[in-house]
Amino acid sequence: AELWQEVPLAPPDSIFKLTAAYKADPFEKKVNLGVGAYRDDDNKPWVLPVVKKVTRILLNDETLDHEYLPITGLPEYTAAAAKLILGPSSIALTEGRTVSVQTISGTGANHLGALFLSRFYTWNGAPRIYLSNPTWANHHAIFKNVGIEPVEYPYYDPKTIGLDFEGFIGSLRAAPERSAFLLHACAHNPTGVDPTEEQWKVIAQVILEKKHYAFFDCAYQGFASGDLDKDAWAVRYFVELGVPLLVCQSFAKNAGLYGERVGALHVVSANSETATRVKSQLSVLQRSEISNPPSHGARLVSLILNDAGLFEEWKRDIRTMAERIIAMRHELHRLLTQELKTPGNWDHIVNQIGMFSFTGINPEQSKGLVEQAHIYLTANGRISMAGLNSHNIRYFAENLDKVVR
Ligand code: PLP
Repeated sequence: AELWQEVPLAPPDSIFKLTAAYKADPFEKKVNLGVGAYRDDDNKPWVLPVVKKVTRILLNDETLDHEYLPITGLPEYTAAAAKLILGPSSIALTEGRTVSVQTISGTGANHLGALFLSRFYTWNGAPRIYLSNPTWANHHAIFKNVGIEPVEYPYYDPKTIGLDFEGFIGSLRAAPERSAFLLHACAHNPTGVDPTEEQWKVIAQVILEKKHYAFFDCAYQGFASGDLDKDAWAVRYFVELGVPLLVCQSFAKNAGLYGERVGALHVVSANSETATRVKSQLSVLQRSEISNPPSHGARLVSLILNDAGLFEEWKRDIRTMAERIIAMRHELHRLLTQELKTPGNWDHIVNQIGMFSFTGINPEQSKGLVEQAHIYLTANGRISMAGLNSHNIRYFAENLDKVVR
C-alpha cells in the first residue's frame, strides 16, 4: 500500500478557516471579529512606534552578528522579562530561585512548560492538567502532545455571562492534592472573564492548601488594562504567597511582535539550588527541541525593557492599544443599551477585559451574523474587540441587535 494511506485528513484550524472565508468575501462592509491580533482604527496591523525605533537601532548596530544565542536565550532579555512579569523586587528574583528560558513565543513557553512537567512533576496519579472550560483551544493540543491528559474545570457561566466562581473553587477542592491547574494570568481567552482580586485570593488559598501546581499562561500583560503591573497582579500575589508555579510569557500581543515569536518560560522554585537543577533540565529539553531560540525579537524586547526611556515609550504604546479596545467596549455597550435598546443585559461587554469578549449569543445567532451580515466570528459567540473600529461598530451593533431580537 502507498505510504501515508492511513493518515486521516485533519479539519482546518477554525480561526484560519474563518479568516480565509472573510478574505474571499467581496462584500464591502464585511467585518472580521475572529482575528486574535490588534488592529488600529483603520483595521490595519499596527507596528508599535517603539518597535520601529528599536528596529532602527538594531539595524545600525555594527557589533551585532548572527551567532547562536545561548540555549536558554539572550540573558539580558530573559532577566528583564522575568522582572516585567514577577516585578523588579520579587522575592523569587532576589532569592535567585527563578529560572527563565527564552521560548518560541507563548506557545513555545506552554510547550516547554508542559514537557518539563511531563518529565519531572511528581504526579499524584496519571499526568493530568486542569484547563478552564473553555480555554484557548491550543492548550488541549499542547498538553496532549506531551502525554498529559487535559481535564476541564468549570469557569464560564453562560447564565451570568461571567465567572462560575463556585464551580471553579469546587473543582480546586475536589481535585486530588498536587494537581496541576492552568490559569490565565489576565484577559482570559476566549471569554474575557477574569476573577476579581478578592476571588484570586480565595483561589490562591485553596491552591496552597491542596498543594496544587499553578501553571500560569500570561499572553496579554499590559494589553488587558493598559497597565503592566495591574495585569501581573495575580501572578505576583501567588509568588508572594509561596504557591509553586511557572509562568508562560508572550510578547506577541503587548509588543505587536506576533511573527517574531518572542516569549519566555519562568519556573519559580523553592530555593536557588533547586532552580539550578531545574535550569539544567530545561536546557536539555530545549536543546533537543530547538537548540537555540531566535535572536532578533529578543534583542528588540531587550532594548525596550532595559532602557528607561524606551520602556516609557512602550508603556505609552500599550496604553494606545488597550485604551482603543476599552473605548470600543464602551461604544458597543452604549449603542446596544441606549440607542438600539437591544433586549437583554449587555454589561458584560464593559466588564470583560482584553482582546476578546463573549457576547453570550448562541451558535444560531453567530451563524446569522456570518451569513446575513458578513460579520465573521466563531460559533461560540466570541468577538475580537480589536476587529471593531469607529467605521464598523455601528454596523456590527445594528446587526447584533437584529439577530437577538
Ligand atoms: N496563550 C493564550 C491564552 C493565547 O491567547 C495565546 C495567543 O493567542 C498564546 C498563549 C500564545 O500566543 P503566541 O504563541 O503567539 O505568543
